This record gives sequence, structure tokens and C-alpha cells, in this order.
Amino acid sequence: MKVLVTGSAGRVGSFVARQLLAAGHQVRGFDLRSAAIEDADFEEVVGAFDDREAATRACERADAVLHLGAFMSWLASDRDRLFHANVDGTRVVLEAAAAAKVGRFVFASSGEVYPENRPAFQPITEDHPKEPLSPYGLTKLIGEELVMFQGRVSSMETVILRFSHTQNADELLDPESFFSGPRFFLRPKIRQQEAFGNKAAAELLRAAGPGRPALVLTRNEDGRPFRMHITDTRDMAKGVLLALTHPEAAGGVFNLGATDPVDFAEVLPVMADRIGLPLVTVDLPGAGVWYHTSNQRIREMLGFEPEWPIMRMLDEAVKAWTTRQA
Ligand code: NAD
Repeated sequence: MKVLVTGSAGRVGSFVARQLLAAGHQVRGFDLRSAAIEDADFEEVVGAFDDREAATRACERADAVLHLGAFMSWLASDRDRLFHANVDGTRVVLEAAAAAKVGRFVFASSGEVYPENRPAFQPITEDHPKEPLSPYGLTKLIGEELVMFQGRVSSMETVILRFSHTQNADELLDPESFFSGPRFFLRPKIRQQEAFGNKAAAELLRAAGPGRPALVLTRNEDGRPFRMHITDTRDMAKGVLLALTHPEAAGGVFNLGATDPVDFAEVLPVMADRIGLPLVTVDLPGAGVWYHTSNQRIREMLGFEPEWPIMRMLDEAVKAWTTRQA
């Protein structure tokens, strides 16, 4: 099969591209950056999703498209770029795919199409109201509508995967990592809250600092520890490949992620113990992060079984931390 993988230089896209190549498929990447994959069965288009000429070249003769690329940012200053990449870009890639008579189009949406930080009920199933609370989540919800529209007006099968938060295991304990740095490490979290303009949160975090690098256990204003899904890239890739090939996936919408959410009060002390950093606890203003999303549908319909729970990821994260310290 000839598969177009968008976001081929990214976390999930590059891993999926390599998995497909290993399984004997022909892969074309499409990304702003080169994936630097050396393989006779790999070619790529380097360009922007909303560039129609590039999107047309990327979709030519593809049997399937895995639209895994997107721009992720929560900064107000990135708003225009967010909508260009995720809304216009998705529309242009979809139109190019339909014109090229692509058989199946798989779209990486996000759990942020739900109001994850204020869910109406938990666990969050696919039937939960879609009321995003972030502009990024809104771009993904509009993306879903564009995908479903194209599915109605063309012969292309579509699959929507609402991705859990996703990390490579070796990113988990990397203070420089875009997501895990500010999620678990105190100083990166202070910098992040300052960049978001959350002065009160930044002050509280700074006041808790022990004067040296530390991990931070975040809780809400009532002392409830944060809880969210963190899924290993390898498990996400498994779900993407099921969406690509499983007959029952066509037309479906699936939450994709780890079965159990990560309770920060359980995991942070283990992290601190294993890498020998102090752990501070900070109660941040507001309701905080505390959600549980169901992956029951994809498990029952497509046979998805995640293999990398957080503690298994952590073993690799500790190894990567140790290597970086050496
Ligand atoms: P990533 O940031 O590692 O990779 C995204 C890739 O898309 C990058 O290589 C980037 O260069 C490319 N890209 C961005 N804008 C582009 C544009 N306009 N034109 C061409 N290429 C562009 O992301 P990831 O973690 O691999 O995520 C994969 C997908 O899953 C994305 O659609 C993302 O929105 C979604 N998702 C990710 C998470 C997560 O926590 N990582 C959570 C929910 C949903």
C-alpha cells in the first residue's frame, strides 16, 4: 500500500512512517521539515499543508492518508498560525486526497475537542458534548467537521481518532521537553506560566522553589492532584495502524489513548525518588486538570490494546535521564 503520512517529521508521524516501512509499505511524508528517513520506499514533500500545490503532489497516487501533522500551541500570539495549519491545512489536504481518489483518510484529532478540564461526565466517551475550551481544540473540532463533510461528499472512507496527550517515553523526564518539561519540572513550569501571563500561578510556583532544580506536583485550588492521560507514542501508532487497516474503522470516531489516566500524586513521588530530585507540591488557582477518557470503543471494535502504561514508560524515561546526566 502507498500511504501518505503527514506530520512525518513529528513524534507520532515519524514513528508511524517507520512502522509502515518496516511492514513493507511505500510511504510518502508531508511536513514543513524533512523526516530524514533513509529508506528506498520513503519519499517526502516538504511544505505547508495549506499549500495546494504541495498537498496535491503529496496525495498523488496515495491509497491512504494518515493526517497526523498539526501545529500545537496554546499561546495567543500563535493563533493565526494555528488556524492556517490545522483548519485551512486540513481542508486543503482533504480536498487533495479526495481529488486523488484516496481510499481512506485517518485524522488525528484531539481530546481537547471535549471540555477536558470541565467534563459533563467521566469517563469521557465519544458521545460527550464537543465544547472545546482552547483555540487548539477548536481547530481540531473544525478539522473533524471538515473530515466528516469530505466523507459525505466523496467516496473516501474517513476515520477520526481523538488523541490522548502523547509522549515519547524518553521525553517524560526531560526538563527541555515541550510538554513534560513544564508539566513535571518546577523551573520550566514557572517559565510556561509566565509565558501564558498567569502571574498568580507563577508566583505560587516560584515561592515553592527549594533553590535548586525540582519536580513539581500540581494540584488544584482545593488540593486535588492533577490527573490526565499520557500515552506512549508506540501505543498511539498501534491505534493509527488499526484505523488504517481495520474494516470496522471506516466512518468511525474513536478516543485513542492509554486505558488509565495518570494520577500525578502517585507518579510524581516515584519520579522524584528515581531521579533524586526534590518534589514540591503547589496548589494552583482554578479547578485544575482532572479527567479520565474512555478508550473502550476502540478496544472493543478494533482490538486496540495499549502496552505502555506510565510506569513502564517511566523505566525508559529514567534510563534516558541517566544517560543525559552522564
Ligand atoms: P508533533 O508536533 O511532534 O508533529 C507535528 C508535525 O506537524 C511537525 O513535524 C510539524 O513540523 C508538522 N507541521 C505543523 N504545521 C505544519 C504545516 N502547516 N504544514 C506541514 N507540516 C506541519 O506532534 P505529535 O505529537 O506527533 O502529534 C501528532 C498529531 O496528534 C497532531 O495532529 C496533534 O495535533 C495530535 N495530538 C497530539 C497530542 C500530543 O500530546 N502529542 C495530543 C492530542 C492530539
